[in-house]
Formats: sequence, structure tokens, C-alpha cells
Amino acid sequence: MENKLDEIISLCKRRGFVYPSSEIYGGLAAIYDYGHYGILLKNNIRDAWWKYMVQYRDDVVGLDSAIFMHPKTWEASGHTAGFNDPQVDCRKCKSRFRADHLLEEFGLNFDKAPIEIINQELDKLREAKKLKCNNCGSTDLTPAKQFSLMVKSNIGSPTDEMTEENVVYLRPETCGGIYLEYKNIIDSLHPKLPFGVAQVGKAFRNEIVARQFIFRTREFEQMEMQYFLHPSMMADKYEEWKNTRWQWYLDYGIPEKKIRWYKHEKLAHYASQAYDIEFDSQFLGGFKEIEGIHARGDWDLSQHSKFSGVDLSYFDEATKEKFIPHILETSVGLGRLFFMFLDNAYTVEELGEDKRLVLKIDRRLAPVKVAIFPLLKNKPQLVEKARAIYDKLKMEFMCEFDDNGNIGKRYRRQDEIGTPYCVTIDFETIEKDNSVTVRDRDTMKQERVGVEELGKYFADKL
Ligand code: ATP
Repeated sequence: MENKLDEIISLCKRRGFVYPSSEIYGGLAAIYDYGHYGILLKNNIRDAWWKYMVQYRDDVVGLDSAIFMHPKTWEASGHTAGFNDPQVDCRKCKSRFRADHLLEEFGLNFDKAPIEIINQELDKLREAKKLKCNNCGSTDLTPAKQFSLMVKSNIGSPTDEMTEENVVYLRPETCGGIYLEYKNIIDSLHPKLPFGVAQVGKAFRNEIVARQFIFRTREFEQMEMQYFLHPSMMADKYEEWKNTRWQWYLDYGIPEKKIRWYKHEKLAHYASQAYDIEFDSQFLGGFKEIEGIHARGDWDLSQHSKFSGVDLSYFDEATKEKFIPHILETSVGLGRLFFMFLDNAYTVEELGEDKRLVLKIDRRLAPVKVAIFPLLKNKPQLVEKARAIYDKLKMEFMCEFDDNGNIGKRYRRQDEIGTPYCVTIDFETIEKDNSVTVRDRDTMKQERVGVEELGKYFADKL
């Protein structure tokens, strides 16, 4: 293995979770496709988020806005002019780096700092002969220059050249769509402040460096919630949302010692608070950002009011006050969460001489809930019985039928995709008492359960 990250990349490919996109053409950097188990897991994570953010609440509604938006959206939000990352190139081996990440390696935090400041810091390191290419060791690195993360398209003007006037951007974050629909939501659903709007969808960023598998990709899914409120409520609601999001991680099996808060010291001029939830990744070697929780002030709606000419203020009937709501945002990458859950679940156990790789993932998130095996493939009565059980259980749970290879191999396969339960149909089932063996993924303990009770047994456990 080249590095630790390769272990999880290899599992994902071997077991059909995630494939590199366009592989037969040599691949496309930092773009990935999700296979059968990948999409099952991803959907379960998305649904777990949606439950906590929308279904369990009466103050948050859903939205699915389009990826393309009017180009003015990104002028108003400041993305067209300012959504950049500082880039440094190695003149010798042509490797490319994010300048703020290079500085981070020396314990210097210049995230989102102006380019002049970043270059001053790089120069200091250069003079001290500390600045080197991480790939080839050369000291011949370019100064940092700003690189736009915005991905362009020519939708609507396919025959024209892509000039600044006719370019339409693929959204770099999903929340823009929420701000643009804010007025329609107020006019159609009449929510009272405070209320939130949640959505899940694709976002696109021309990331300079993307060597972290699905943790940082150029096409990714975000799950964002924008909570609109009166500024006087911000402090309380901010604490509440921080707790709500923290608890979500614990409820889905992330140990408290593996997550922590990172407080942003340098804030955007409109923001009053910004914290990230970071996860201690065994594959990326340390704490990495998973989710941001930001108090964004009234910047977003004020800007869109100004650029569109449409009044986006809110009139409070009770207090007769008219104001632009402030926004509290929770924002997380679905691919990042996917990575985190796999990273956390990935366990290698020593079993005597042998090793077992098992994904100890929360049962509700597991791609397949129950695998059903006839003990032997060449005994029609076993296969028939197993099929009948499978056909019944699959109506309630994501199940899988497998009669390939010996039972040990079948267990291993299911362990590697995180299936919490395996059911084996053997001769006792058909000759004796109509019971089956149910094996637990984590403890590997087996127990006999009557076929008639299986539905209830799994309903209680899953
Ligand atoms: P980073 O510092 O890691 O580049 P960011 O601070 O730019 O992230 P935000 O703009 O706050 O990220 O986006 C919110 C969330 O969206 C992040 O916490 C992350 O989970 C997710 N996200 C952002 N960029 C990517 C990406 N390129 N690939 C996957 N997920 C991403």
C-alpha cells in the first residue's frame, strides 16, 4: 500500500462503493462515481440528515433548487469576484499546491487571507530556506496567485464563445438557491420567523488540489440549511443549532472523542460566529473539517435585495417591525460525511491467524440490512426456502440474496459492506423447526430465530 488512504480507496472500488469517474478514459481528476453500495449508503446518510433537519422539526421546510442560477446571483454574493483560492506551482515538477495549505504545514493559519499577506508569509519561509515542493523537494516555487473556484458553462448560448457576458456558473454552493427562493417560500408557505430551509444538491468547485479521494472533489453534494431569524435571536439559536448538529453525529455512532469544534478567528466581514465540526480521520491523518455552522448576518438577503431590486425584508405582524432577516447556516458535504462514516466504521480485527475487515457502521446507515444465504447452493429445497424468506424480507428491508462460495466467504463479503445481519437457511430449517441462524456483524454471535418471527425481529433491531 502506498499510503493509508489507498486502503479505503481500494475497499470502495473492490466492493462497489465508489469508482474513479471515466476510468476507461484514464479518469477525470477529483470526480467520482458511486456504485450500488455507495448510493445505498449515501442515500441513507442523506435521509438521516433530512430526518433531523426537516422531518423531526416544524420550523424547517425543504427545497430542491436548480444548479444553474442567474449569473447576477454570484455577483451579489461576491463569488464572481472573490471565490478564489491561492495557488502555488512548482516550476520543476509542475505540482500544484494551495498556498494556505503550505503555510498550514508550518502552523500558520492564513485561510482566506489577502494574497499580498500570503505572499509575504511565503517570502519569509523562502528566505529562511524552508519553502519546498512537497512532491520533488525543489525550492523553485512560484508566488501565490488567485485561482477562481467557479466552474463555467455556456448554457443558453451554446454557439457563442464563453465570454464573461454569456457565461453561466455551476453553483459553487447550494445555499444561493435558498436565498433566491426565500420570497417564494414566504409568499407560498407563510412561515413565521424563525424558520429554516434545507436542501441537498450538487455543487461544483474548481479545487486547485484534490488528492483526498471523496473528501475533496470538484463535483460534490452539499446538504445545507439556512435558518432565517431576527438578529436578537442569533446567540440562542446559534447555540441550539450547534448542539443539534453535534448530537446528530453522536446519534449516528461517531464517538465524541473523534469530533471537535474549530472556531474561526478570522471571520468574513458580515459574519458574527463561525465554527466547524472536525473529525479525526484515520485515513487522512488527523482532524479535518466536515461541517460548517455560520452566523452570516443579513448579508445574503441584503445583497440579493440590492442586486435584484426586489425587497426581501420581512414584516413582523406582532411587533410591526420590518427588517432583513439574519441567517444561520449549517453546511456539510454529503461525500465528506460518507467518507467520515466509512473511516469511522473501518475496522480490522485479528481472528487468530486470520484478519477480518468489517465496517461497523450504524445499522440505519448500512447499505444492506440483511443478507440471506442458503447453506448450500446445490440443494434446491434450501435455495427455495431461502428465496422465499428473501422475497418476504426485501419488501421491508434492503436485503441481498447470496448463494456463492462457502458461508465463511459470504460472511466476509457482508462484513466488508457493513451488513448488520446475515440469515442462513440450513437443513434444520426445513427438516426440524422452521428456524434460521441469524449472525450479528459486530459480535459474530449466532442465534436461532423462527422464520415467522424474522420480520418483527429485524423491525425491532433495524
Ligand atoms: P475547505 O476549507 O475544506 O475547502 P470550505 O471551508 O471552503 O471547505 P464551505 O464553503 O464552508 O467549505 O462548504 C461547506 C461544506 O461543504 C464543507 O464543510 C464540506 O463538508 C463541503 N465541501 C466544501 N468543498 C468541498 C469539496 N470540494 N468536496 C467535498 N465537500 C466539500
